[in-house]
Amino acid sequence: MNAAKLLDQAEKKPRNLSHDEILELLSLEKQEDIQALFRAAYQIKLHWIGPFVSLRGLIETGNVCEKNCYYCGIRKDNNSVERYQLTESQIVQMARWAFDNHYGSLALQSGELENESNTKRFESILRQIHTFGKDDFGITLSLGEQHLEVYRRWKEAGAHRYLLRIETSDPDLYRNLHPEDHSLERRINCLYDLKSCGYQVGTGVMIGLPGQTLAQLASDIQFFGDIDADMIGMGPFLPHHQTPLGKTLQLTPEYAARQLLLGLKMIAVCRLYLHDVNIAATTALQALASDGREQGLLAGANVIMPNITDTAYRKNYQLYENKPGLDENSESTRQKLVENLADIGEEILWGKRGDSKHFFLKKEKEM
Ligand code: SAH
Ligand code: SF4
Repeated sequence: MNAAKLLDQAEKKPRNLSHDEILELLSLEKQEDIQALFRAAYQIKLHWIGPFVSLRGLIETGNVCEKNCYYCGIRKDNNSVERYQLTESQIVQMARWAFDNHYGSLALQSGELENESNTKRFESILRQIHTFGKDDFGITLSLGEQHLEVYRRWKEAGAHRYLLRIETSDPDLYRNLHPEDHSLERRINCLYDLKSCGYQVGTGVMIGLPGQTLAQLASDIQFFGDIDADMIGMGPFLPHHQTPLGKTLQLTPEYAARQLLLGLKMIAVCRLYLHDVNIAATTALQALASDGREQGLLAGANVIMPNITDTAYRKNYQLYENKPGLDENSESTRQKLVENLADIGEEILWGKRGDSKHFFLKKEKEM
C-alpha cells in the first residue's frame, strides 16, 4: 500500500494498523514519505491534545541500583560510578522548586532498589510533596520493578503515574540485554499490578538496540496497544562504554543520525496507532541532536521531562554517555526550553498536571 493511504487509514481510528502496516510505516525511507508520516502524527496530536506540551520536572533521586542491565551506565557492576542518594529533604526541596515554578508535575526516577527502607523513604517523600502539591501536582514514579503492595503504598502516599519500560517485547532480545535473573515476564506482570492499583501506566522500549529489527519494534508498538498503556516513554539506545553492550560501540555522526530518525519514526507511528496517549520526547533524543526533543514534539510527542536535579549530581546519573544538560542549572534550562518551544509553535501547559487523556476516556467508557 502507498504511504498516504496507510496514513489516512491510521488517522481514522486508533489501532487501525496491522503488524505489517506498522512495519511498513517504520520502514519508510523517502524523505517526502517520512515528512508525511511526521505531519500526520502531528495532526493527530493536535486533534487530541492541541499545540501544547506538558512538563515533568525530572529528579534523578539516586543512582544506586541492584540490577545489571547490560546497556545501562549505572548498572550495579559499574565500579567507576560514584554512587549517590539524595536525601528526603533535597528531593522535597527540588519538588517544591518545580511546584513553585508551575511545572505542573514531577517525575522521580532512580536505580532499582527493592527493600522496606526504600519503600518507606519514597512514601515519606510523596507525603511531604503532597502537603503543598495536593492533587494539583502530578507525580510520576519510575523506580523499577516492585511488589504490588509497594506500588499500592506509593499510590496511597500521592503518586498517580508510573513509568516502567519493558525495554523490548521480544523475549529473545530481552534475554540478550539482561542477566538471567532479570525477567521480562515479571516486568509485564508489574505493569498489570500498576494498572490494578489505579496508576496511569506508562511503558516503552529502547530504540535501535544492537540486533533489534524493525519487525520487533512494530511488535513493541502493538504491545503498547495490547496492554492499553496510558503513556509512552521510549527513546533511542545510546552506548555507554562502561557497559557490556556499549563498550565497543562508537557514537559516530552517521550512527547518531540513524538512531534519531528511528526514534522519531517510533514516536510518529505510536501516535498514529494509539492516538490519545501521552508520549514523551525523551532526553535521549536531545543527546543525539540539540533540538531532538523539539523534533520529537513535531513527530507527535506531547511531554517533555526537563532535568531539575541539582547539577552537582547529574554527572553521576549517566545511563548513557553524551547526556545533555550536565552543566546547566535548572533556571537556564527552563528559559531555553520556553524559547525553543515558541519557535515551533508549541506552548507549555504551565501549572497543569497534563494527565493522560487515554486514561480518563478509558475510565469513562468503563462506566
Ligand atoms: N531503574 C529504573 C528507572 C531508571 S532507568 C528502570 O530501569 O526502570 C530508565 C530507563 O533508562 C530504562 O528503562 C532504559 O530504557 C533507559 N536506559 C538505560 N540505559 C540506556 C542506554 N544506554 N540508552 C538509552 N536508554 C537507556
Ligand atoms: Fe538499574 Fe534501571 Fe539501569 Fe537497569 S536500566 S541497571 S534497573 S537503573
